[in-house]
Amino acid sequence: MEENWQQLDPKLQALVAQVNVQIQPQLAKIGQQVLYNQHKVLTAFREQQVAATSFAGTTGYGYDDEGRDQLDAVYAQAFGGEAAIVRPQFVSGTHAIGTAFFGLLRPGDELLYLTGMPYDTLQEVIGVAGNGVGSLKEFGISFDYVPLTTAGKVAVAQIAAHLKPQTKVVAIQRSRGYASRDSFTIAEIAAMIKAVRQLAPDVTIFVDNCYGEFSETQEPLAVGADLMAGSLIKNPGGGIAKTGGYVAGRRDLVKKVGYALTVPGIGADEAATLNNLSDMFQGFFLAPHVVGEALKGAVFTAALLGQLKLDVHPTWQAPRTDLIQTVNFGNASAMVTFAKAIQQFSPIDAYVAPIPSAMAGYEDPIIMAAGTFVQGASVELSADGPLRPPYTLYIQGGLTFEHVQLAITAAVNAVFFSQK
Ligand SMILES: *Cc1c(COP(=O)(O)O)cnc(C)c1O
Repeated sequence: MEENWQQLDPKLQALVAQVNVQIQPQLAKIGQQVLYNQHKVLTAFREQQVAATSFAGTTGYGYDDEGRDQLDAVYAQAFGGEAAIVRPQFVSGTHAIGTAFFGLLRPGDELLYLTGMPYDTLQEVIGVAGNGVGSLKEFGISFDYVPLTTAGKVAVAQIAAHLKPQTKVVAIQRSRGYASRDSFTIAEIAAMIKAVRQLAPDVTIFVDNCYGEFSETQEPLAVGADLMAGSLIKNPGGGIAKTGGYVAGRRDLVKKVGYALTVPGIGADEAATLNNLSDMFQGFFLAPHVVGEALKGAVFTAALLGQLKLDVHPTWQAPRTDLIQTVNFGNASAMVTFAKAIQQFSPIDAYVAPIPSAMAGYEDPIIMAAGTFVQGASVELSADGPLRPPYTLYIQGGLTFEHVQLAITAAVNAVFFSQK
């Protein structure tokens, strides 16, 4: 192999070599975590007796879909819940989370977010953004949130003041989304749940688990959450599932969510799985490893850009609870050049150039680099963000650590080392 086959500036080549040594202890820790999570998933597959016939799938009503029931049971077991609904009929993470809210809340009830304002798309479900049609608000379900502290943490002392007799669901968003706060670790979520239980033992505690699955050794259900939900084109789909979402947790609550997904009476008992089961099973089996690859890629990204004195969150050695790595570029030109290079080093659509453009619900133009096999799948390497100070790119995913290394190194080369 020739020495500089990546055709990098020699200074960058040396820096990458240094970073790869620097991050070894972190990569080893991630490897141990992947092993633990793989065991958890493998055990669920073995004990639920997944078989070649489990992939058959159904059409029409989807009656007697044994593979679908087994997939639900595998998810429930691996995530530490009593029950789960895993379906291609959940069109996205937002849909799974929104269905959970519509399943759990009734007119007159209140939804309380502990983690500040929720993720952008959920704001329309709740009715605090958008035109309100069909929202929880239109159905007479009110909303409140506990503002984060200036340090971006949950204001535990303020929770009591926001809990009302009508508060029926308390929601926790694990991942930061597009917010500037840090994501909340399982240990932090455990502390939040403990605080809420002391004040309101009967309230239902829900966790938006998007981007979080398998990025630690425990999931929110293990530390007392009643229900959680997420997207299959993020972590638990393992890059293989083509669509779908899940909810998992207490059996009685999962049943109610099933009624909201379809209709009362039918609930989760009807749903044709068509040809999706094989991908959904295989993706879940691969998910611990794929999440590990993405986490290793994020550590590499944080370390390399940190060496270049950029403001990165989390830093390379900080604990992680999701796939998101942010980098502040400080100016639009560096941010856009970086995103374009990520696109150029994607397996799909490498030949197109992302252009910052206006998007519904956002005030500033957004740049999005995503050359993914599954449309919009952010378990695959992607980078996006609004063009406004401090020019933060949200970089997430990566099916293989090697792909992330190649793309990030090429992007760093383009922005910081190529001759202008
Ligand atoms: C991705 C995400 C969602 C759901 O997004 P979809 O694009 O609808 O799958 C919800 N909450 C958070 C924190 C997310 O990151």
